[in-house]
Amino acid sequence: MPFSKLGLQAELLRAIGAQGYSSPTPIQTQAIPVVLAGRDVLAGAQTGTGKTAAFTLPLLQRLNGKPRTGKAPRALVLTPTRELAAQVAESVQTYGAHLSLRSTVVFGGVSINPQKDALNRGVDVLVATPGRLLDHVGQRSVDLSRIEILVLDEADRMLDMGFINDIRKLLALLPKQRQNLLFSATYTDDIKRLADGLLRNPALIEVARRNTAAETVSQVVYRVQKEHKRDLLIHLVKEGQWQQVLVFTRTKHGANRLAEQLGRAGIESAAIHGNKSQGARTKALAGFKDGSVRVLVATDIAARGLDIDRLPHVVNYELPNVPEDYVHRIGRTGRAGEEGAALSLVEGEEFKLLKDIQRVLKRDIPVAELPDFPVSAKQPEESRPQQVRHRHAPRRAGGNAAPAHADPHRKPRPHNRPRRAAGDVR
Ligand code: AMP
Repeated sequence: MPFSKLGLQAELLRAIGAQGYSSPTPIQTQAIPVVLAGRDVLAGAQTGTGKTAAFTLPLLQRLNGKPRTGKAPRALVLTPTRELAAQVAESVQTYGAHLSLRSTVVFGGVSINPQKDALNRGVDVLVATPGRLLDHVGQRSVDLSRIEILVLDEADRMLDMGFINDIRKLLALLPKQRQNLLFSATYTDDIKRLADGLLRNPALIEVARRNTAAETVSQVVYRVQKEHKRDLLIHLVKEGQWQQVLVFTRTKHGANRLAEQLGRAGIESAAIHGNKSQGARTKALAGFKDGSVRVLVATDIAARGLDIDRLPHVVNYELPNVPEDYVHRIGRTGRAGEEGAALSLVEGEEFKLLKDIQRVLKRDIPVAELPDFPVSAKQPEESRPQQVRHRHAPRRAGGNAAPAHADPHRKPRPHNRPRRAAGDVR
């Protein structure tokens, strides 16, 4: 079905055309007519399905039908993270390019005063993270009593991040009569409770089954010792000539360290996590999008909702503790029908996590043969001393320890011997 059959106005079709979208995604086909008709929606859709346009396009059209009176916003989109808020706001601008509606975005970590000024000039669409929006409520810089349409984007993430009380406070400030759209990647009991209290006779739209990884993503596991992960990653990026790789680590510190190590190996990298300033995060993301940053190393929270087009490679440098985070992580690849590859580097202690993930996915992730990759001479600082000894003086068969290059979970493969130390000059 073409976009032109969904009931959208010419100005919106023009903006869609400028984006180069040839046809609507399944969530757009299902959601756009229903939202245009004014119904509440409960949508199960992950990032990468085109969900932002699915709510933004009809929302803009409904607002465009009648002019704003006063300064108060008429549509409110709540998102869990600053990045997602910024991206949704950008989409509102993009799709609304030929309409005379005004929009702004408010989130924490940046000065509140410019946001107050923008709100004071009057807006139709307000995109916000819950905490900063409550700050504005407290300072009386926003009036939420005129909201006609409420969108909760990535509602499951907002609950995971502990925003339920903030959301309830905000809901209490909205007029009773309004349209509500709730988007969530998963359908947990908490989401069900929230939806039951919020939505009236909602249209139920589901485009990706619950906890099902996007089907265009090929998933693979590499079994590799912890101290070889970095060298394997460097090898994969260089040999595969990967140009845009999102790498997940479990900790902020780990993200920083890995980004530095990759940088030293000649791979332009940046880290993105909660301890980075908003400016640093925006810069890293911009660099990643324009190709000057080849590897973006991120923690789960920081990566949530990042809108990066057609991301070809996602690497789980460490598996997440929560299986659902795996699904979110690999949702970064294969976006809107594109092919993507998700690789997980799994060491001994992580096998329990892998099992949990496979249980949630309801299938096993295939294990790939390790390529023959060079192992650097320099030990990462977290390695234990005996591992250093193994590397340089592998024991013979019959010794009580396996050589460092051997995978403890499968039979040793001689071809996986370190070829030469990185930095060797020949
Ligand atoms: P989202 O799920 O909203 O994060 O969108 C995922 C990506 O898909 C974004 O980069 C959009 O620009 C892109 N996208 C949205 N709708 C379409 C479409 N109909 N055709 C192709 N790409 C799209």
